[in-house]
Amino acid sequence: MNIILLGPPGAGKGTQAARLVDERNMVQLSTGDMLRAARTSGTEMGKIVAGVMDRGELVTDEIVIGLIREQLEKGGDHGGFIFDGFPRTLAQADALGALLNELGQSLDHVIELQVNDDVLVERILGRAAEAVAAGGTARADDNEESLKIRLMAYYKQTSPLIGYYHAKGQLQSVDGLASMDDVAASIAAVLG
Ligand code: AMP
Repeated sequence: MNIILLGPPGAGKGTQAARLVDERNMVQLSTGDMLRAARTSGTEMGKIVAGVMDRGELVTDEIVIGLIREQLEKGGDHGGFIFDGFPRTLAQADALGALLNELGQSLDHVIELQVNDDVLVERILGRAAEAVAAGGTARADDNEESLKIRLMAYYKQTSPLIGYYHAKGQLQSVDGLASMDDVAASIAAVLG
């Protein structure tokens, strides 16, 4: 079973993906995590994307599609893939469909986590403050300025995917403002 978790930054995609990994032996494919790993390992690609990410803009479709392709081609024995933070553009959505098709796989559910902007800003700035309080550092893009650009990128480039998957009859929406356990239960109800 392959699923997409769709929603703006701070909607809880990563949190819910981690639960599905634990509970259903699924594999989380977060392009954000992959890009951050590329940055810390100092690869050429990491250097190219660093500034773009810090500003809160989207990196090119070509780069993220390449990262996803690499992971899908690895195969392996697991409960399916959770796409977290991918696709973020219509071109990425088309590419994902083609890739899965090529590999003889399907996309089974697209789950939209519905939230509102006030909560997102609160959650993300809270996440940054928590990271610092714990003696670590906040994500470079978890600040008010980048967040505005990330939200704008979501509405301009990613939210059209809601219509796209709705038209394909694949979209299911859950209330992302509920408690973590309740959101997990809503997702479980969709997945069956
Ligand atoms: P995330 O961890 O999903 O919030 O992603 C952090 C940042 O990585 C984003 O603000 C983008 O700069 C970049 N990024 C992650 N996934 C994608 C994607 N699918 N397409 C383009 N850029 C992405």
